[in-house]
Amino acid sequence: MHTSFQHATAIINVLEGSGHEAYFVGGSVRDHLMDNALGDIDIATSATPDQIQALFPKTVDVGAEHGTIIVVTEHDSFEVTTFRTDGTYTDYRRPDEVIFVKSLSEDLKRRDFTMNAIAMTRTGEILDPFNGKVDIDRKLIRTVGEASERFHEDALRMFRAIRFSSQLGFSIDKETFLAIKKNASLMENVSVERKTVEMEKLLLGKGINKAIPLLIDSGLFRYLPLLEEKREELGRMASFPFHELSGRIELWTAFANLLEIFELEAFLNAWKLPKKVSKGVILNILTIQRFMQNGWNRELVYYSGGEACLASHEILVLQGKDKPESFDTIQQISEALPIKGIKDIAANGNDLVEWRDQKRGKWISELLHDLEKEILEGKVRNEAGAIKEWVRSWQQK
Ligand code: ATP
Ligand code: MG
Repeated sequence: MHTSFQHATAIINVLEGSGHEAYFVGGSVRDHLMDNALGDIDIATSATPDQIQALFPKTVDVGAEHGTIIVVTEHDSFEVTTFRTDGTYTDYRRPDEVIFVKSLSEDLKRRDFTMNAIAMTRTGEILDPFNGKVDIDRKLIRTVGEASERFHEDALRMFRAIRFSSQLGFSIDKETFLAIKKNASLMENVSVERKTVEMEKLLLGKGINKAIPLLIDSGLFRYLPLLEEKREELGRMASFPFHELSGRIELWTAFANLLEIFELEAFLNAWKLPKKVSKGVILNILTIQRFMQNGWNRELVYYSGGEACLASHEILVLQGKDKPESFDTIQQISEALPIKGIKDIAANGNDLVEWRDQKRGKWISELLHDLEKEILEGKVRNEAGAIKEWVRSWQQK
């Protein structure tokens, strides 16, 4: 068995040793059966959150009311969740209450898809009441139970089906897909935060060429922030390799750029992205626009910064709008910049006042602005003597 499972086996041993049941469940079992790299390993148990916390020296309470405790071991940390069902749903999103239950089979029944409702014992025995393994072999995503009913309980499951199709390259079972088509508008009830998590996973999937058409054909795209009018642009990005991008800022830059978003800030806010990500995307898109006008040059590298230029370049190459060699060009320009910012200028406000024998005023910032340009263009050397000479002859506009 995979070494990550071996580390987690110690946790199952402790739980079983105290008379509880415990199994591997969810994505890790699915990925193990597919021989894929494992993500997080989740454990389901009959022990209650209190009992879990009492059994392990180091735990983190991330949602005891939902039954989830993180157990930290020397190798790794694992989510351990009490067997539960989801009570009743009244608003198409979250269960009104979580009910802890005694049996594994009840817990598996509340899970979204057959491939995600398989449990494995510590010795590797598979418990698969909904024939998830058959669906994995057929590369099929199918709900546990009646699809429409499951989507009425939690509408996000529809979007999850499409993101799994992107991650795993699976198809969606016919009946499940018809139910998505029929119930797409239930997505209005899902929070933006949950949509954003799934959207990122969808874009990063290697099966995006399968998933994007599903997003369009199902009509689900209409219920994603500011995508309603973007059907054609979405369709055109089905072959874009988002998974080759190096980070979250690059991902959203590429997405916004391919969607040809004009009101960028509103778009990023609608997806509720953190300020840091939005700021990065805005700078990158501006950089891309400037590159499209004039190519890479000293001014662009200076004002955007080398990092934003390299990030933008990465996306432009994948779009076929820039050549890979520009990477070196950007770096050479960046290294050769006489200054990286206004703070690097070899003179300060006091120097200027002294050299011009002029009272402090707003002329200082005007002069610095002009001086910055002159130094950047190589017309004045960034060295006190040369600057002094230039400052003395500077004419205020
Ligand atoms: P990934 O590898 O992307 O993390 P995963 O299958 O582990 O995939 P998670 O979102 O981490 O997906 O959820 C873990 C498990 O919890 C799922 O495999 C599934 O059994 C269950 N699950 C998660 N979200 C839902 C949901 N909205 N409805 C029902 N079951 C869910
Ligand atoms: Mg997971």
